[in-house]
Amino acid sequence: MTAGGQHCCIFLIFDYNTVNMRATKAIINLTSLRNNIREIKKLLKAPTKLCISVKANAYGHGAVECAKVAVEEGADFLAVATPEEGVQLRNAGINIPIIMLSLCDPQEVETVVKNDITPFVFDEEYMQYFAKACQNEGKTGYHVHIAVDTGMGRIGVRPTEAGKLASAIEKTGTLHVGGIGTHFALSDDTAETSKSYTKTQFTLFLEAVKAVKDAGIEPGICHCSNSAATLDCPEMHLDMVRPGIIVYGYYADKIDETYLAKKNVSVHLEPVMTLQTKVCSIRSFSKGQSVGYGRTWIAPEDTDIAVLPIGYGDGMLRRFSTKGVSVFIHGKRYPIRGRICMDQCMVDIGKNNADVHRWDDVIIFGSEKNGVRQSAEDIARLTDTISYEITTGITSRVQRVFQN
Ligand SMILES: *Cc1c(COP(=O)(O)O)cnc(C)c1O
Repeated sequence: MTAGGQHCCIFLIFDYNTVNMRATKAIINLTSLRNNIREIKKLLKAPTKLCISVKANAYGHGAVECAKVAVEEGADFLAVATPEEGVQLRNAGINIPIIMLSLCDPQEVETVVKNDITPFVFDEEYMQYFAKACQNEGKTGYHVHIAVDTGMGRIGVRPTEAGKLASAIEKTGTLHVGGIGTHFALSDDTAETSKSYTKTQFTLFLEAVKAVKDAGIEPGICHCSNSAATLDCPEMHLDMVRPGIIVYGYYADKIDETYLAKKNVSVHLEPVMTLQTKVCSIRSFSKGQSVGYGRTWIAPEDTDIAVLPIGYGDGMLRRFSTKGVSVFIHGKRYPIRGRICMDQCMVDIGKNNADVHRWDDVIIFGSEKNGVRQSAEDIARLTDTISYEITTGITSRVQRVFQN
């Protein structure tokens, strides 16, 4: 009984959420986050508001902490994808407007309304759920934004239908059009055809705004620019911009620092997250011995293998090993050997490497500022994806450690 009780106590004390024990962690540099927000603000002209996207746990960086910094740095709005994400911010005491960019289940509408989260509405049926919930809650003048589909092919009312929807919103007696927005499909590309597609989307959006005005309704805050358009299309900023990825230090695909410099736009972003682990074991291998599941790698000569406690269960995806992703120890690059496991992976440090010791730090990706030579963008390029998917893919098992 006593032993059992003690065991229970120890378990409670070493709560994984409060004690930072594991070698594998994501360091979140809040100074870099502040820098990025300030760099973005420099691009905006006076009345343009800033809505910072903190959906998907702030692209993997920790929603509450990042949102708090965003508020301190003067964000006017925060953007989430789900009601739960909005509630998490409200429970953390954040009281600036929160827009929900994605759609929710009718069962979640009451939660949305109770927490003063602004939904993007795009048809009358969906809109009615919010009208009803406001009635039940005794709320009037509840702000909703109209989502317009100008060519993203996702949620949104057709531009020509926007006026009709705006009228229906005002007729509910409980809801009010607080804004209108659209989302670009190709603004992160620099090809002429892509640029002209974005322009077409923008024109259609302005037509939708006009349709709302023609229906005798003030459209409120007009917004359409994601990160790429925030950087590349100042004429499309309108009343508010909604950047996400650039806040976390990554350029929006082709709209990178080199491209912007050519346009005389100077914006310096710093990756906010550093994913790191430690060498937890160094083992010598003889020529012919294999590493990992499937025996996909067999030592061609005698070497030493460092075992790292990070795997696809942490977001270090299995396909990284076959696409040339490496890791860094004291600034030097080492290749991953064999298949990445769920909880561990193995890297080749060469025979008797005097630079590498057990418990040394290993960097998977991070900011150049800290001497790291591999970013989430580099990994994304090697593995045919975008930086968003790499940082968002770091799982909840990896503790976020916030640094100022
Ligand atoms: C995610 C999202 C954004 C932010 O996109 P970034 O490319 O990260 O800037 C803006 N608007 C909508 C509707 C989104 O879904």
